[in-house]
Parts: sequence; structure tokens; C-alpha cells
Amino acid sequence: MAWKKRGVADGEAVQYTTIKARLYPDEAQAELFENTFGCCRYIWNRMLADQQRFYLETDQHFIPTPAKYKKEAPFLKEVDNQALIQEHNKLSQAFRVFFKNPESFGRPKFKKKKTDRDSFTACSHEFESGPTIYITKNGLRLTKAGIVRAKFPRRPRNGWKLKRVTVEKTKTGKFYACILYEYAVKAPEPVVPTPETTLGLKYSMARFYAADDGSAADAPHWLRQSQEKLAKLQRRLSRMEPGSRNYREAVQKYRLLHEHIANQRRDFIHKESSRIANGWNAVCMRGDSMQEVSKKKVLPGNALDSGFGMFRECLRYKLERQGKPLILVDRFTPTTRICSACGELRGCGLHRRAVWVCAKCGAKHQREANAAKNIKAQGLAQYFNRQELRESA
Ligand SMILES: [Zn+2]
Repeated sequence: MAWKKRGVADGEAVQYTTIKARLYPDEAQAELFENTFGCCRYIWNRMLADQQRFYLETDQHFIPTPAKYKKEAPFLKEVDNQALIQEHNKLSQAFRVFFKNPESFGRPKFKKKKTDRDSFTACSHEFESGPTIYITKNGLRLTKAGIVRAKFPRRPRNGWKLKRVTVEKTKTGKFYACILYEYAVKAPEPVVPTPETTLGLKYSMARFYAADDGSAADAPHWLRQSQEKLAKLQRRLSRMEPGSRNYREAVQKYRLLHEHIANQRRDFIHKESSRIANGWNAVCMRGDSMQEVSKKKVLPGNALDSGFGMFRECLRYKLERQGKPLILVDRFTPTTRICSACGELRGCGLHRRAVWVCAKCGAKHQREANAAKNIKAQGLAQYFNRQELRESA
């Protein structure tokens, strides 16, 4: 992610990066974390309930601040106030997104202990005595918890500024901290795409993506294998006596496998997006909202479906920091129904086949590669149209 920001020198851009550290809290710190997770859920639900009531009564959108609840719920005072303020920010943001695009993004929902992730976020503040959150050689200093023992996969570089920390607990009981750093870099020279250096990508259910040159993501067979194991475990669980020792062991196994799949998927997405961002000068994709994509899902348990939105975001920032554009094509443009060779628009039906021949020009098309070609052509046209407008203005 890179964007202009006040206080940043000319020719500089701000970038963000995250270091994910494993945390080893002592007993008291772990208890404090649990309480903070609970308080965050509590305050989110209270604010959301009041927002709804207020909206019904007055037709106005308003979210009260956490301070309002402290008198009737004194336990809120025991946890980091920053974490509660962040819940207010997150809820406000969730509503902004929802109001802007209610069809793609659902209304913010109530949080449940059973299904929602245990996490809280806190921002670091600079005081004369120093920042409120910082890292030591093998620890992370938080406002209320003090120094929590931590293991870092890498260290921040000189000049990186710690902005905020999200502490989370996985279903398998591990604690992690995602530490967000901000730093300034020299703004990259903008790269102008050409047809030869631009890649068109189409979301593909079976192959993750299909490209205009006929290539596709390497079928991640390991992912499918893990997925099959997961389904097997699920079936076994459904036959077991809930609460028994075997059941509890199987549940733990199931959660570990789930985590493993999430890690595999993240690695795959990072590798693929890096490879593409480094190898091409621009990428064209459709601007679909990911909710729509997942609504179309017909293959049960396709583990990559949920990763496509993340893939697009990774591509965006990895391209951006090299001065390259990610061009999003209007999501209502017909891309599967047009012949990429002659531009003939087909009626319904035929274009749904995996391979089809254009009745007008006789070109033979792979359905997905043809769509990716159209996305690329449309994206480039859009890009240069905009450039022209900018230059004539
Ligand atoms: Zn044709």
C-alpha cells in the first residue's frame, strides 16, 4: 500500500508492512488478553445495538463512543482503552463500507464468542517519555500487559515506525501479534504499460485464475489434498460422541489442519502475486466484489475461493510500489460473451462451454483465456482513455 500523505516529502511515498510475531504471555497476561477480547466483543455489540435502536427511532446513523458504557460496565476499565476505541473505529469503518456499497457488503453483524476471532487492536502513541508500544530484544511492550515475551521472524529496519498492533488468539490457543510499521520510500517512477507487458487475469473456479496468454495458476494439488483430509476429519467428527476424549482430540487435529491450510493458501497467494508483479508492467482484472464471486461458488470446499480478494490486494500493492498499475475493468462489462478476435457479441449459451468457435470469424476460444483477453483489451483501453483525458485537461 502506498499513498500520498501529509507531512511526507515530495517524491516520497508511505508504505506499510507487517511483522507477525508469536507471543508467549504469562498467565496474568494471557488472562488480560482474554478479558480484552471479551470486552472488545462486548463493546462492539453494545455500540451496534445502540446504533440500530437509534436508527429505528430517529432515522439517523450514530455510534456512541465506548466511554458511554464504562459506568454501567466497570470491567471495561480494566482493559486497554485503546482497544475499545479501535472497536469504535472498526465499527464506523464497517458502516462506511456498507453504506457505500450495501449490495456487496453486508450490514455489520453482532459478534459471538464461538464464531468470531479473538483479537484486539491498539495504536502506539508518542509521548515525551517514548512510544506506548514498542519491541525489545525478545518482547513486545503493550500498554496494560507490559512486556510480553515474543519471537520475531524478522526485525524492523531503521526508520520504520510502529503504528499499531493486533493481538489475536488462534483456535488452537496460540497468541500472535501483527505489528504494523510505516516507513517512507522514494516514490517509484510510473511505468507505462504496453500490450506486450500487460497481463489480463480472470478469476477461475477450477484454476484460481486464467491469464490471457493461456496460462493459469499452478493447480495447487497440495491444497486439495489438505482439503480432502479436512473433509475426512469432519466426517469422523460427526460420528463421534461430543465431549469424549477422542472427540476433543479430533477437534484439535481439525483446527491444526485448518490453520495449516490457511498458511499454505497465504504462501501460495504471496508467491503468485510477487511473481506476476515482478514479471509484468500492468495487470488487468475485473472489479468484481468478492462476495459476488463467492456467491457463484459451486465447487464445495474450494479452498482458494476465499483467497481471491486477498490475491487482488497483494497484486495491487506489489505493483504499486514499483509504479505499475492494477487496472480494474468495470464489472458489468461482458467478457465471456465477446469474441476476443473479432469483437462479435455472442448470445447466451454457447460461451458457457469450455471451448467454443466464433460463428463470425471462426476463431477457436478457450472460454477463460478468451475472457482474460477481453479483460486485458478493455483494461488497456480504459487506462489510455484516462491518460488522454488527463493530458487534455
Ligand atoms: Zn470472432
